[in-house]
Amino acid sequence: MRKTLYIIGLSALVFSCTSQQNSKKRQYIPRTPVVKPKTAVKTTTTEKPKPQITNDHGVEFFTTNIADPTKNDNTVSYGSIVSAKPAGYKVVKTYFPAIAQNFRQKYLILHYTALPDDKSITVLTQQAVSAHYLVNNTGDNEIYQLVDENKRSYHAGVSAWRADKNLNDTSIGIEIVNMGYTADSIGKRVFVPFNDAQVKKVAALAKDIITRYQIPPTNVLAHSDIAPTRKQDPGPMFPWKKLYDEYQIGMWYDEAVKQSFYDLATSTDFQLKYNDPSFIFNVQTQLQKFGYALDLSGKWDDSTKKTIEAFQYHFRPQNYDGIMDAETFSILQALIQKYPVK
Ligand SMILES: [Zn+2]
Repeated sequence: MRKTLYIIGLSALVFSCTSQQNSKKRQYIPRTPVVKPKTAVKTTTTEKPKPQITNDHGVEFFTTNIADPTKNDNTVSYGSIVSAKPAGYKVVKTYFPAIAQNFRQKYLILHYTALPDDKSITVLTQQAVSAHYLVNNTGDNEIYQLVDENKRSYHAGVSAWRADKNLNDTSIGIEIVNMGYTADSIGKRVFVPFNDAQVKKVAALAKDIITRYQIPPTNVLAHSDIAPTRKQDPGPMFPWKKLYDEYQIGMWYDEAVKQSFYDLATSTDFQLKYNDPSFIFNVQTQLQKFGYALDLSGKWDDSTKKTIEAFQYHFRPQNYDGIMDAETFSILQALIQKYPVK
């Protein structure tokens, strides 16, 4: 397995070295202005300096903001440039005028593989599923990249969050090697913990991706958040709170706000109205408002229970029974208040 990886790594290195040479050789510096239409924007001495480009192992990066971040929150460019090489023509990219642009990478989705290290690599490289990155559990300092960030990987499947669907189109996927869960004697899922070194690796990788693409906290999610009826990963053992507290990654609620919602919930007839369809409808509406895709049936149906379970995996991992108790409901309300849909 390591041999295969080595070969993949070696060919990637050869490729990147080659493209680096090519890009240096082919760098285009126009001596005379490119033919411009008469309505072209005037170039004056007060014009903004052209953005610098660096070349890191054959991948070109803008070193400064190429657009106006006040007009779009997602335009600071530290991403790579991929452009056409049309036969007989030159694509000029030392000048990049469009301010109307943003990144396609809007989400970061975390998974566990439910497989050991070697099988995780085999499945994610040889079968119909993949992820951009795979974080192993071998204790080394390597992170495997399986898919280019500018391409889609097949990790999310049928999925939705807030107004977005099919998140493979707009997300970066990280698979974490972890064995998932086993069922205990009463059929309850018992999840396998993540070790600290692996969590640190995930945090460093996530931080890097979130920073480069300006991914908002509301879009850093579990696979179970975007596909709650199908998926449990990365499960309740994944330390979302630690990532929030120590690395400012993703969402977490404020304890005091949660407490005030909790006081309110427990002072009312929370238990009595539990099976009241209007209460269930309200719970479903709140879950939907926060981001989950579910039908407002007014019943404690299977998909609602699984959605509550997914919410608990992420935000109330001590108890993931799929029941909307007062604590779960107060956490949900505190999160909605902190992270409203814009
Ligand atoms: Zn997954």
